[in-house]
Amino acid sequence: MHADCSDGLRPAIGGRLVRRRLLAATGCALCGVALWPAAATAATEMDPRLAQLLKERRTLWLRRGTEEVRSTYWTATRGRLQDEYLQICWILRDVQADRVFAMNRALLDTLAGIQAWLKQAGVDAPIEVHSGYRTSRTNLATEGAALNSRHVVGQAADISVAGVSNVKLAGLSSVLGRGGTGFYVGRGFVHVDAGHERVWIDQQRKAPKPPG
Ligand SMILES: [Zn+2]
Repeated sequence: MHADCSDGLRPAIGGRLVRRRLLAATGCALCGVALWPAAATAATEMDPRLAQLLKERRTLWLRRGTEEVRSTYWTATRGRLQDEYLQICWILRDVQADRVFAMNRALLDTLAGIQAWLKQAGVDAPIEVHSGYRTSRTNLATEGAALNSRHVVGQAADISVAGVSNVKLAGLSSVLGRGGTGFYVGRGFVHVDAGHERVWIDQQRKAPKPPG
Protein backbone atom coordinates (compact mmCIF):
# COMPACT_ATOMS: atom_id res chain seq x y z
CA MET A 1 0.00 0.00 0.00
CA HIS A 2 2.76 2.41 0.86
CA ALA A 3 4.62 1.76 -2.36
CA ASP A 4 1.46 2.19 -4.45
CA CYS A 5 0.63 5.35 -2.65
CA SER A 6 3.98 7.04 -3.16
CA ASP A 7 4.32 5.86 -6.75
CA GLY A 8 0.94 7.26 -7.59
CA LEU A 9 1.80 10.60 -6.06
CA ARG A 10 5.10 11.23 -7.73
CA PRO A 11 3.84 12.60 -11.06
CA ALA A 12 1.39 14.93 -9.37
CA ILE A 13 4.08 16.88 -7.60
CA GLY A 14 6.87 17.00 -10.10
CA GLY A 15 8.77 13.97 -8.89
CA ARG A 16 10.04 15.62 -5.73
CA LEU A 17 8.14 13.43 -3.34
CA VAL A 18 10.04 10.49 -1.95
CA ARG A 19 8.66 7.70 0.12
CA ARG A 20 10.16 8.84 3.39
CA ARG A 21 8.14 12.04 3.12
CA LEU A 22 4.96 10.02 3.17
CA LEU A 23 5.69 8.38 6.48
CA ALA A 24 4.05 10.70 8.96
CA ALA A 25 4.17 9.95 12.66
CA THR A 26 0.96 7.97 12.43
CA GLY A 27 2.01 5.96 9.39
CA CYS A 28 1.49 6.66 5.72
CA ALA A 29 -0.94 9.50 6.01
CA LEU A 30 -1.46 9.81 2.28
CA CYS A 31 -2.59 6.21 2.01
CA GLY A 32 -5.49 7.43 4.07
CA VAL A 33 -6.07 10.13 1.50
CA ALA A 34 -6.19 7.61 -1.31
CA LEU A 35 -8.79 5.52 0.51
CA TRP A 36 -10.92 8.41 1.67
CA PRO A 37 -11.74 7.08 5.13
CA ALA A 38 -15.17 7.92 6.47
CA ALA A 39 -13.68 10.13 9.16
CA ALA A 40 -12.20 12.41 6.53
CA THR A 41 -15.55 13.05 4.91
CA ALA A 42 -17.78 13.33 7.99
CA ALA A 43 -17.53 17.09 8.15
CA THR A 44 -20.12 19.41 9.60
CA GLU A 45 -22.62 20.49 7.00
CA MET A 46 -21.23 23.34 4.95
CA ASP A 47 -22.40 26.88 5.60
CA PRO A 48 -24.97 27.73 2.87
CA ARG A 49 -23.02 30.85 1.86
CA LEU A 50 -19.91 28.75 1.43
CA ALA A 51 -21.85 26.09 -0.47
CA GLN A 52 -23.10 28.74 -2.86
CA LEU A 53 -19.56 30.00 -3.51
CA LEU A 54 -18.30 26.47 -4.12
CA LYS A 55 -21.27 24.86 -5.84
CA GLU A 56 -19.57 24.35 -9.22
CA ARG A 57 -15.89 24.03 -8.41
CA ARG A 58 -13.49 24.21 -5.52
CA THR A 59 -10.16 25.76 -6.39
CA LEU A 60 -7.22 26.85 -4.29
CA TRP A 61 -4.39 29.11 -5.38
CA LEU A 62 -1.73 28.81 -2.70
CA ARG A 63 1.74 30.29 -2.47
CA ARG A 64 4.46 29.43 -0.03
CA GLY A 65 7.76 31.19 -0.56
CA THR A 66 8.78 30.38 -4.11
CA GLU A 67 6.34 27.46 -4.42
CA GLU A 68 2.90 27.89 -5.85
CA VAL A 69 -0.05 25.62 -6.54
CA ARG A 70 -3.30 26.39 -8.31
CA SER A 71 -5.56 23.37 -8.17
CA THR A 72 -9.22 22.61 -8.63
CA TYR A 73 -9.71 19.70 -6.27
CA TRP A 74 -13.46 19.19 -6.79
CA THR A 75 -16.02 19.96 -9.47
CA ALA A 76 -19.75 19.34 -9.55
CA THR A 77 -19.41 17.19 -12.65
CA ARG A 78 -16.25 15.23 -11.80
CA GLY A 79 -16.33 15.09 -8.02
CA ARG A 80 -13.09 14.77 -6.12
CA LEU A 81 -9.88 15.18 -8.08
CA GLN A 82 -7.25 13.28 -6.20
CA ASP A 83 -4.05 14.46 -7.88
CA GLU A 84 -5.05 18.08 -7.51
CA TYR A 85 -5.94 17.52 -3.86
CA LEU A 86 -2.54 15.96 -3.25
CA GLN A 87 -0.79 18.98 -4.77
CA ILE A 88 -2.54 21.09 -2.17
CA CYS A 89 -1.50 18.69 0.60
CA TRP A 90 2.04 19.01 -0.69
CA ILE A 91 2.24 22.78 -0.39
CA LEU A 92 0.60 22.59 3.05
CA ARG A 93 3.16 20.05 4.25
CA ASP A 94 5.44 20.42 7.25
CA VAL A 95 8.44 21.86 5.45
CA GLN A 96 10.63 21.68 8.53
CA ALA A 97 10.07 17.96 9.06
CA ASP A 98 9.58 17.25 5.35
CA ARG A 99 6.25 15.50 5.90
CA VAL A 100 3.06 15.51 3.85
CA PHE A 101 -0.31 14.90 5.49
CA ALA A 102 -3.90 14.32 4.42
CA MET A 103 -5.30 17.78 4.91
CA ASN A 104 -8.85 18.15 6.16
CA ARG A 105 -11.35 18.83 3.39
CA ALA A 106 -13.51 21.19 5.41
CA LEU A 107 -10.43 23.35 5.97
CA LEU A 108 -9.67 23.41 2.25
CA ASP A 109 -13.30 24.28 1.50
CA THR A 110 -13.18 27.21 3.91
CA LEU A 111 -9.97 28.48 2.32
CA ALA A 112 -11.40 28.00 -1.18
CA GLY A 113 -14.54 29.87 -0.14
CA ILE A 114 -12.54 32.78 1.24
CA GLN A 115 -10.59 32.95 -2.00
CA ALA A 116 -13.73 32.70 -4.14
CA TRP A 117 -15.38 35.48 -2.14
CA LEU A 118 -12.31 37.70 -2.51
CA LYS A 119 -12.20 37.03 -6.24
CA GLN A 120 -15.81 38.15 -6.58
CA ALA A 121 -14.81 41.29 -4.67
CA GLY A 122 -12.01 41.97 -7.15
CA VAL A 123 -9.07 40.48 -5.26
CA ASP A 124 -7.48 37.82 -7.46
CA ALA A 125 -4.44 36.85 -5.41
CA PRO A 126 -2.96 33.69 -3.96
CA ILE A 127 -3.37 32.74 -0.34
CA GLU A 128 0.04 32.95 1.29
CA VAL A 129 0.67 29.92 3.47
CA HIS A 130 2.61 30.62 6.67
CA SER A 131 2.00 27.20 8.18
CA GLY A 132 -0.09 24.12 7.37
CA TYR A 133 0.37 20.63 8.70
CA ARG A 134 2.85 20.32 11.56
CA THR A 135 4.32 17.22 13.09
CA SER A 136 4.15 17.20 16.89
CA ARG A 137 7.84 17.95 16.97
CA THR A 138 7.56 20.98 14.72
CA ASN A 139 4.52 22.14 16.66
CA LEU A 140 6.44 21.98 19.93
CA ALA A 141 9.13 24.16 18.39
CA THR A 142 6.58 26.70 17.09
CA GLU A 143 6.27 29.87 19.15
CA GLY A 144 2.92 30.12 20.88
CA ALA A 145 1.51 26.88 19.48
CA ALA A 146 -0.89 24.87 21.63
CA LEU A 147 -0.06 21.24 22.34
CA ASN A 148 -3.41 20.20 20.88
CA SER A 149 -3.06 22.47 17.86
CA ARG A 150 -5.28 21.62 14.90
CA HIS A 151 -2.14 21.92 12.75
CA VAL A 152 -0.95 18.57 14.10
CA VAL A 153 -3.98 16.78 12.64
CA GLY A 154 -3.98 18.58 9.30
CA GLN A 155 -6.98 20.74 10.17
CA ALA A 156 -5.40 24.20 10.30
CA ALA A 157 -3.52 26.72 8.21
CA ASP A 158 -2.04 30.12 9.00
CA ILE A 159 -2.67 32.40 6.04
CA SER A 160 -2.55 35.91 4.66
CA VAL A 161 -3.54 37.51 1.36
CA ALA A 162 -1.69 40.47 -0.13
CA GLY A 163 -3.89 43.53 -0.21
CA VAL A 164 -6.40 42.12 2.28
CA SER A 165 -6.27 43.05 5.95
CA ASN A 166 -6.05 40.21 8.42
CA VAL A 167 -9.10 41.64 10.16
CA LYS A 168 -11.12 41.13 6.99
CA LEU A 169 -9.58 37.70 6.45
CA ALA A 170 -10.51 36.64 9.97
CA GLY A 171 -14.03 37.93 9.42
CA LEU A 172 -14.41 35.89 6.24
CA SER A 173 -13.09 32.79 7.97
CA SER A 174 -15.55 33.10 10.83
CA VAL A 175 -18.52 33.77 8.53
CA LEU A 176 -17.83 31.10 5.91
CA GLY A 177 -16.14 28.44 8.02
CA ARG A 178 -17.55 26.21 10.71
CA GLY A 179 -14.32 25.89 12.66
CA GLY A 180 -11.89 28.14 14.46
CA THR A 181 -10.50 31.54 13.54
CA GLY A 182 -7.55 33.04 15.36
CA PHE A 183 -6.43 36.61 14.92
CA TYR A 184 -2.90 37.25 16.13
CA VAL A 185 -2.04 40.89 16.54
CA GLY A 186 1.29 41.71 14.97
CA ARG A 187 1.91 38.25 13.55
CA GLY A 188 1.00 38.85 9.92
CA PHE A 189 -1.36 35.89 9.52
CA VAL A 190 -4.76 34.53 10.45
CA HIS A 191 -5.24 31.03 11.81
CA VAL A 192 -8.06 29.08 10.14
CA ASP A 193 -9.05 25.61 11.29
CA ALA A 194 -11.73 22.95 10.98
CA GLY A 195 -12.05 22.23 14.67
CA HIS A 196 -14.83 23.46 16.94
CA GLU A 197 -16.44 26.75 16.01
CA ARG A 198 -14.70 29.54 17.92
CA VAL A 199 -12.97 32.87 17.38
CA TRP A 200 -10.15 34.33 19.41
CA ILE A 201 -7.92 37.36 19.36
CA ASP A 202 -4.42 37.05 20.68
CA GLN A 203 -2.97 40.45 21.50
CA GLN A 204 0.20 39.36 23.18
CA ARG A 205 2.87 37.89 21.10
CA LYS A 206 4.50 36.24 24.07
CA ALA A 207 1.31 34.71 25.44
CA PRO A 208 2.19 31.32 26.94
CA LYS A 209 -0.34 29.08 25.23
CA PRO A 210 -2.78 30.67 22.79
CA PRO A 211 -5.27 28.17 21.34
CA GLY A 212 -3.82 28.05 17.83
ZN1 LIG B 1 -2.32 28.34 13.36
